[in-house]
Amino acid sequence: MSTETLRRYAAEREKRLRSGGREYVRVREAFAEQPADPHQPMRPREPVRDEVEFAFVGGGFAGLLTAARVRDAGLAPEDVRIIDSAGDLGGVWYWNRYPGLMCDTSSLIYMPLLEETGHRPTERYAHGPEIAAHCRRIGRQYGLYENALLHTSVTRAEWLEGESRWLVETDRGDAFRTRHLGMGMGPLSIAKLPAIPGIADFSGPWFHTSRWDYSVTGGSPEGAPLTELAGRRVAVIGTGATAIQAIPELAKSGAEVLVFQRTPTSVDVRDNGPVDPERFAELAAHPGWQARLLDNFTRVWDGHRLGEEGEVEDLIGDGWTDLGRRLRAAVRSVPPEEAGPEAYARAVAQADLAKMDEIRARVDAVVEDPVARDGLKAWYSQLCKRPGFHDEYLQSFNLPHVRLVDTDGRGVERITERGVVVGGEEHPVDVIVYATGFEYSADPSASCGFELAGSGGRTLAEAWSGGMRTLHGIHVHGFPNLFVQQLVQGAFLSSNVPHNYTHAADAIAAVLAHARATGADRVEATAEAQEEWVRMLVDNARPMNRSDCTPGYYNNEGQAAPERVRYNVGHPGGAFVFFDHLERWRRNGDFRGLGFSSPAERAAAEKPEEGAASDRAGEAPAQALAGGA
Ligand code: NDP
Repeated sequence: MSTETLRRYAAEREKRLRSGGREYVRVREAFAEQPADPHQPMRPREPVRDEVEFAFVGGGFAGLLTAARVRDAGLAPEDVRIIDSAGDLGGVWYWNRYPGLMCDTSSLIYMPLLEETGHRPTERYAHGPEIAAHCRRIGRQYGLYENALLHTSVTRAEWLEGESRWLVETDRGDAFRTRHLGMGMGPLSIAKLPAIPGIADFSGPWFHTSRWDYSVTGGSPEGAPLTELAGRRVAVIGTGATAIQAIPELAKSGAEVLVFQRTPTSVDVRDNGPVDPERFAELAAHPGWQARLLDNFTRVWDGHRLGEEGEVEDLIGDGWTDLGRRLRAAVRSVPPEEAGPEAYARAVAQADLAKMDEIRARVDAVVEDPVARDGLKAWYSQLCKRPGFHDEYLQSFNLPHVRLVDTDGRGVERITERGVVVGGEEHPVDVIVYATGFEYSADPSASCGFELAGSGGRTLAEAWSGGMRTLHGIHVHGFPNLFVQQLVQGAFLSSNVPHNYTHAADAIAAVLAHARATGADRVEATAEAQEEWVRMLVDNARPMNRSDCTPGYYNNEGQAAPERVRYNVGHPGGAFVFFDHLERWRRNGDFRGLGFSSPAERAAAEKPEEGAASDRAGEAPAQALAGGA
């Protein structure tokens, strides 16, 4: 292990921690004059006062997958309602339209429901417009538009105990009832800006990448050239996963591009290219192909935790699975007599170091200017930040009109009327693009933006004030008929987020099918099962917040996390083990940990002499699941 490299890692981390400046503001709250939706005008409509079976807050992948699965389980289009503040379905793929936008894990596993829709991705890493169109395709195929409320934000949801329904209120005056309520707003959906002094003083146009303003830049999300930028000076602030995709496109516009960097991203080979139609047809000829690919990716990614003997075939073969295979090989190289968590951790750290050396060597091989070359090297463990992959990003810095302004870990100092100040020097620019990311919240009660009041009026924020508590990351005691689609206390798989939603959607649909088949109008996690689940997670947790990492949203910007963050963990066995658990749980059909009840059973429970209420999970016939998930 190179101590010199580790010393450099620590020094770079300390430098960033000392320089502070890690406060952010929400774009919408700080700059109300920014349009709520620059992509589509909002159309007037009458408030809705009806009732549905299943409403889901969020029209991104989580909502689309869940709605598709509950439709498969027998709900009609009019029974299902998606609500989203965007003007169309798609979630982040609606909002993000920046040039160069593409998915970051293979399209074959990232794009949901490929098998069901028959869509063949055109590229190994599909570009944004194709993914947005796919979201709309899912919406059409499953009839999700008919009843959707778009350009609509939920303001409050309240459990009506006597009716066993949720009452949902919105900013469009709606007040409708739903038997079941789901929510999945994504872990990174609230755009943030750094709280840099003077940010509002800039006299030219500026925008966040998730609200790209093509009226300023020219061009289009589909790749038309950004003609309006020719001859202008454009500042890009931030060098995360978004910036590394957008900068090569800005570089093609003829603009002078100044890239303001606080921490470099590790940028490995992307190797994008077309999906071969013949090979895809071969793949798609075998039903269940996408589920198999998803499982294979996660099995390879998580391989170092699974302790499996023999070789595991890698069906994806990209930078993510390369990393997974390396970590597995490292763990397997530990001699049996030394086996144990410490030896494994050392082996993994060694493999990580070797990988990062390769990534730094790639910078040396690609970037010609010695100053940029030095600045673009990442000095931290690869999984301290989201690893980047791109075939043109580093190459952009060889163009005479693209310049790296490295802030040496300090960040941009100030914005003036004319430009961007770093180290006391003002860099005059015409346009500022903030590629400064999204507020990360593992806790949907904090980021959902509305009050969710469960049994007895207790809100989700109150229930989770001491830390998040769920069963499987989906069900919450005290919040009947609520289903949360998110990563925490489940797989917590961040390398391919839709895989989390796929399994959770199957589980939610199976629960709904079971409730319908058995006449139950109320389903809720029992307090005991929830406590048992949370204890198992917390007592065996492998915290993601590595304190030795360079600061970023993965580790709470390097700051000590409050006690409640201890609950923001995934299954200790890893994603593959969790998915396997959840699948067996739903297929088994006894739904251990959930209590189902009908009005008659609850009435009987209130009159003990006439019979006790039953926790009926486990009593339903297995065929109750027919058609479900
Ligand atoms: P990130 O949070 O990853 O990056 C924000 C960038 O802004 C960082 O480089 C940060 O520096 C920088 N920054 C913040 N404040 C300042 C400042 N004051 N001065 C200079 N720089 C500053 O946001 P992204 O939008 O890039 O990515 C967020 C996440 O979204 C990714 O991690 C990924 O999960 C997802 N994503 C997925 C994509 C896909 O699948 N296609 C594409 C893009 C994003 P520092 O590192 O020092 O904090």
